[in-house]
Amino acid sequence: MSDSSVRLFPPTGSTPFRSSIPKRLLRFWRAPFDDNAKPLVSVFVAPAAFNQFTEHSIIDLENEVGGGLVGSRHVDVRTDEQFVLIEGVIPARFTRKGNTFLTFTQDTLVAMNDELEERFSKKQLVGWYHTHPRMGIFLSNYDLWLHDHFFPEPWQVALVIEPHAGLGGFFIRQKEGHLDAQRYFGFYEILAEDCVSRVEWRNLSQADEDSADKGESEDE
Ligand SMILES: [Zn+2]
Repeated sequence: MSDSSVRLFPPTGSTPFRSSIPKRLLRFWRAPFDDNAKPLVSVFVAPAAFNQFTEHSIIDLENEVGGGLVGSRHVDVRTDEQFVLIEGVIPARFTRKGNTFLTFTQDTLVAMNDELEERFSKKQLVGWYHTHPRMGIFLSNYDLWLHDHFFPEPWQVALVIEPHAGLGGFFIRQKEGHLDAQRYFGFYEILAEDCVSRVEWRNLSQADEDSADKGESEDE
């Protein structure tokens, strides 16, 4: 068995955790398309992870940068809906860069999975992120190819960040497995202890209290 081919794809078949996240810690950031489509999974982002991919997104404002989103897969105890919790990032190495594309190579994926094993025991790659300097929020044909080949699980997501305008959005497969390259979704921000939001993406709007009830436990 080839070691590298095994490591390219981490164990992804494990059963999701049954969990809930207290509503008081959540802020839902709505994307313009959220009313018209239903993603297969909701996305929850822990404060440390949000800081990490935001900081990485501005280290090079001319070229695309990216990496893996590390976390875990869950089923809400109350609603039975699936969600992924993003808890950290692994900046990609061994990439090929141009100012309009970022290429993950096989070495990128091997290094990412090595780091996953070393630093994030029992976590999974729940998706990937990359920047689109001055290009807007969408998935290119190459991005779609990369997503299908390296992140093929239905619940794996792709985050695109535009660092100049301050935009961001998650591309998430819908129930029938369809992935729309132009339609991104919002997400649930998990607030840090100071209860101050970190999100400054101008294309997302804060949802009403009533709609931020995913992950809520009635007992909270
Ligand atoms: Zn792209």
